Amino acid sequence: MQLASLQTLSDSWVKSWQIPAKLNPWRWAEENLEFTSRVSPLPGNYRTTSTPYVREVLEAVADPKVRHITLCWSAQSSKTTTALIAIFYCIANDPGNVLLVRPSLQAAKSLAENKIMLVIDENPALAQQKTGDKNDYQKVMIKLKNMVIFVRGANANQLSAESCKVVVLDETDKYEQYKEEKAEADLVSLAYERTKFYKNHLKMDTSTPTVPSGVIWQLYNEGDMRLYMMPCPICGAEFNFCMKCFKFDSDNPKQTAHFECPHCAGKIEERHKPQMMLNGRWVAQNPEADEEHRSYLLPEFYSPVTRWGELAVKFVKAQKLAKMGNFGQLHNFINSSLAEPWDPTENARRDIEQLQALCDDRPEGIVPDEAVGLTIGIDTQDLYFEYVIRAWGRDNLQSWLVKHGKLDDFEDIYNLMRSRFTSVSGTKQFRITAGLIDSGGHRTAEVYEFCRKYSSLRLRPSKGERIMRRPWEISKIDKLANGNPIPGGVKLVRINTTYYKDFLAGKLALNFDEPGSYRLHADPDQDYLDHMCAEYRNSKGIWVCPSSRRNESFDCEVMNLTTAEMLGLKFATAEDKKPDTPDAPPTPPTNPVPKKKKRLPIYHENPYTTGIE
Ligand SMILES: [Zn+2]
Repeated sequence: MQLASLQTLSDSWVKSWQIPAKLNPWRWAEENLEFTSRVSPLPGNYRTTSTPYVREVLEAVADPKVRHITLCWSAQSSKTTTALIAIFYCIANDPGNVLLVRPSLQAAKSLAENKIMLVIDENPALAQQKTGDKNDYQKVMIKLKNMVIFVRGANANQLSAESCKVVVLDETDKYEQYKEEKAEADLVSLAYERTKFYKNHLKMDTSTPTVPSGVIWQLYNEGDMRLYMMPCPICGAEFNFCMKCFKFDSDNPKQTAHFECPHCAGKIEERHKPQMMLNGRWVAQNPEADEEHRSYLLPEFYSPVTRWGELAVKFVKAQKLAKMGNFGQLHNFINSSLAEPWDPTENARRDIEQLQALCDDRPEGIVPDEAVGLTIGIDTQDLYFEYVIRAWGRDNLQSWLVKHGKLDDFEDIYNLMRSRFTSVSGTKQFRITAGLIDSGGHRTAEVYEFCRKYSSLRLRPSKGERIMRRPWEISKIDKLANGNPIPGGVKLVRINTTYYKDFLAGKLALNFDEPGSYRLHADPDQDYLDHMCAEYRNSKGIWVCPSSRRNESFDCEVMNLTTAEMLGLKFATAEDKKPDTPDAPPTPPTNPVPKKKKRLPIYHENPYTTGIE
């Protein structure tokens, strides 16, 4: 009797908690959801202790004032899981049709099969909503007693039918349309159209960002822009984990990574993180936003699975590569770890300052006395030519910008190739030794004809290719009827642009005094500087030039660097080093340069110039 009444008491106590639990999605999830090893690498009851930042987000799901939730979150931050918890909460507590969209139908179906359906099956609070009819339980359409979950890929055809109370868009910035900037119907608007018949609808989008104009960054900025603020364990003032406060020693990033409180400059170590996060709260930064739209930014510093040391190591490595012209990893770090967009124009601005630091005090057109030769790179446009002349030293492809400019016609090119350039001391005169002229895009036949007619100028037609096995190759253009090349005929130089752009970016990253630095004269013009900073390596590792920018000088410099390598200037370096220098690169056996060193006639012995005269 006593036992029974105790049971009744206990039941009613549980029941009394059920109502508030129902209203609080994260508490409901903690009490009702268990993840088995089939759905989670960390099986057990769902917990928010290590990710307390999801609590407010999940509360917002049940908040009648909130209609739109944007998660601009890093990798490893459980953003997809958080969106799924929102769906599970709706199934058990607030049913209504759900549209779930992922970048592809396959990715969407995989999530349905490997997570959603398993969690429903394995948790009684959700399983009781199943109809019992197998046909209702499909990957693309999960029919439950009071609602349907439509599972779709990001494709206009798949998003135009059903009316839904909840629309969840996962990884929006990976939708093909936005990746390729296609001018199709806007998929996000199209999907959100589905909610228009529901006053109490909920829109939810999640992604790591890409570029400033990308979907998730735009949505984050439209919303109230919340940051997760936590009290400093030392002074108690609030701050958020961001790159500005992230400190480490570049020589030992793994062991030294920590945060510095912006208020007291105190050192916050990773052991402080769990408690700080539990005491944290989301604070809106955008008072202008519609109160219906909450948007949350979360970098990977908050992730329960990523160590700060790992992030510091990743950043140091990415920075080193960026200095060599390979921005892929830095781009990825900014998007995936900082959850911020990658802005190529900002990157270019930094480069202009770097370039200006490479200026010496020579006037334009004047050659340093220690130079051994001049090369030219000419970019061909329909109405003009753009050129860059460079001087080269003996060591490590040391180089100096001599002149940049535009020419109207082939006669101007002829005259420039024939002109002389004086050295700083006035005691030496230089002529352009050799060069390349672009024949890939414009006026191909005319360029060939010019190079053929004036072969003594040692100007060769060239064409850039993104993927090649070697840095450069020569194709014979002028052939006899039997297919053999005509002696002295025009030969096309094919340039591996990926190789030379990386090489050039690496040279430009050297400091003024470093061996092999790539110096500029005292007053490079703005066009030259702009062109040199226009191109960048995108996240796929491909060099791209934004459509609004010009890059002719950069192309000219690529041709100059190719010419210098073809002339064997790099090999001359090995020759000039002391024999006992341990890091002297071996002289390639095929190169006959060394014996001729004193006369500097290497240009005549090189395969590039052989056969021209
Ligand atoms: Zn502090």
